[in-house]
Amino acid sequence: MSFLDEFFINKHGIEECEGDYRDENDILICGKCGTPKECIKVYKGKKGSFPCRCKCDDIAEAEYQQRKAREKFDDRVKHLRKIGITSKRYLEYTFANDNGKKPEITKQVKRYVERWNEIKESNIGVLFYGSVGTGKSFFAACIANALIDKGVSVHIATLSDLVRLRTANYGKDNIALDKFDLLIIDDLGVEHASPTAYSIIDERYQSNKPLIITTNLTPTELKNPKTQEQKRIYDRVLEMCGGVAIRIDGGSKRVEVAKQKREIAKAILNS
Ligand SMILES: [Zn+2]
Repeated sequence: MSFLDEFFINKHGIEECEGDYRDENDILICGKCGTPKECIKVYKGKKGSFPCRCKCDDIAEAEYQQRKAREKFDDRVKHLRKIGITSKRYLEYTFANDNGKKPEITKQVKRYVERWNEIKESNIGVLFYGSVGTGKSFFAACIANALIDKGVSVHIATLSDLVRLRTANYGKDNIALDKFDLLIIDDLGVEHASPTAYSIIDERYQSNKPLIITTNLTPTELKNPKTQEQKRIYDRVLEMCGGVAIRIDGGSKRVEVAKQKREIAKAILNS
């Protein structure tokens, strides 16, 4: 007797639970969901019963698959954050930590994240410019963190760090910046007019993928470079990011923090 024959005869594999019952055709029905736990099939000319999944089983299976998919996604986000966020301070720069003092910019930046698929498709970069400490890095990193939460691969680093890494790893394999869906280069300044800086920006240009730049240079300064090396870099930056130039100014966070600290210190020292 084969396994299947035995299976048919003994109705193996059908777990009968408390509350289950048999309907008028002697089919076992789940007491919880009221759907069959077995079905009748003909095998080698004999009628027999097979176990089948009641609705409870289907729901349990779907929940299991969902949980698995969520775990896989969470692992991916964790990995993306590890390879994409190069400095601890960027981890703090999230919409949740936005002080709401620049609502117009918050709105634009959130829109960039929400409409990422179109942004990516059209290769739309952004230029955040303004004086030091006004939140350019903050908003750029908000984009990085929010997109990573959505499972998008983003790399954010200062141009100084990227140049330093490139120089240190000269001749060795470099981190492939073009594999990231979005590259954010933080803190472009006049001091960065070097062939290495150019090659980093040019590689991004060749990849046809979006680039976000933060800089304390104004669009006017970018349009009027003083050296040939600057011109090469600024031309690329303006072409990739100049279409959306967002000025962030006023209310320097660093000045505010310093002021708060001064007040706390005064309160402590005078207590
Ligand atoms: Zn059931």
